Amino acid sequence: MNVPSLLNALQSCACGKSHTVGIRAVEIGRGLLAQTANILSENGFPKKILVVSGTHSFAAADGITDVLSAGGFCVRLHLFDGVHTSHQSDVDALTALCRDADGLLFVGAGSLGDVCRRACYVTDKEFAVFATAPSTDGFASDTAPITIHNFKISLPAREPSVIIADTDILAAAPAVLRSAGFGDMMGKTIGLADWKIGNLTTGEYYCDTVAALTRDAYRRVCAVADRIPQNDPESAGVLMEALVITGMAMKLCGSSRAAAGAEHIVSHFWEIKTLEQGRASVYHGRKVGAASLMITRMYYDICKNADPARFGADETDWERVFAAYGDAFKADVVKCNSPTVTEETSPAILREKWNAICDAVYAEMPAPDVLADMLRRAGAAAACEEIEITPELCLLGLEFHPYMRHRMLLSRLLPMLRCRTDYTAWAGLNKG
Ligand SMILES: [Zn+2]
Ligand SMILES: [Zn+2]
Repeated sequence: MNVPSLLNALQSCACGKSHTVGIRAVEIGRGLLAQTANILSENGFPKKILVVSGTHSFAAADGITDVLSAGGFCVRLHLFDGVHTSHQSDVDALTALCRDADGLLFVGAGSLGDVCRRACYVTDKEFAVFATAPSTDGFASDTAPITIHNFKISLPAREPSVIIADTDILAAAPAVLRSAGFGDMMGKTIGLADWKIGNLTTGEYYCDTVAALTRDAYRRVCAVADRIPQNDPESAGVLMEALVITGMAMKLCGSSRAAAGAEHIVSHFWEIKTLEQGRASVYHGRKVGAASLMITRMYYDICKNADPARFGADETDWERVFAAYGDAFKADVVKCNSPTVTEETSPAILREKWNAICDAVYAEMPAPDVLADMLRRAGAAAACEEIEITPELCLLGLEFHPYMRHRMLLSRLLPMLRCRTDYTAWAGLNKG
């Protein structure tokens, strides 16, 4: 991927914002493991490094520390055993380990990468990623979802200056990781629709040039859906590049708007409630893919059924909201909703913009059956039983997710739209 030319195309953008990223190089291709030291050196990465990995990922990148040592790097290795969530306690541990290194190379994919990027931010160290699976959109991100007291919050984090992915390794990763990455990409259309809806209803900043980066990446991934379950370096590379680009899009527009909408928040809701019960969640992208299908059903239904004549003031029943989150999360929910985001819009604005809102949904998002078919072909999850959550938790997430963020979403507008709701059907729970 040519990062300089991508940035060039974004110069003097019509939105008025100057779009920058800290990423210097993204190298995705076959056999790049052997080039790791060269790529890092060419991009000025420091020589005294801490390599952080999980035991499985490190085995997938067999020989990487030898390659680095032979290339003149002074390497210290720290292996984690099975990190599935990004806990503040792991950030603290890594912060201490980082001290005597100048840079950190993360070898792997997933939550441990969030721990690394956050630790590099805290200690101001250079950060690079050697990806072993195309499983998440978090590689290029400059924020990290970190769990503190079981509540997941998004914290500032260090962007990687270099991202390397050997497509032979990506293709050999477990199919469930590739299908998770695919599921993560399927949420992008909702992110783009929600972003536009935020712009239409509250005047929130929006950039169509950055949105187009995400849109194009999504379309390229759709085209390789059938090959995601196979050991195929080319489609694994397409997926990896799309995940990196959408991560960069977040940085370019200064928020997660360009890559995440209601579906990511639903997934986070399920995750914090699962954590509260002391259980680990399935992969982020699996949950996001399933949530994407449910939110797509919801948004299409809302656009079909809402009647502008009935729009009114926000009728949120706050007692039900607080009950859904429980005492452990009530203070966080109060904070996100003081004031609540619907105060930035009005029934009159919703009436005026209603056609444009529905146009955004139809223009960005595929129809529910089209999305369901793509998820199935790629081997991604589409229903709550495939992501190890109960129907009750599934429904709670669909109804109450909007209140864990101060962010405009079409789903957040339901108490103003006053249209028919059918969470059971949207969750896909009323079949047979
Ligand atoms: Zn722009
Ligand atoms: Zn994601």
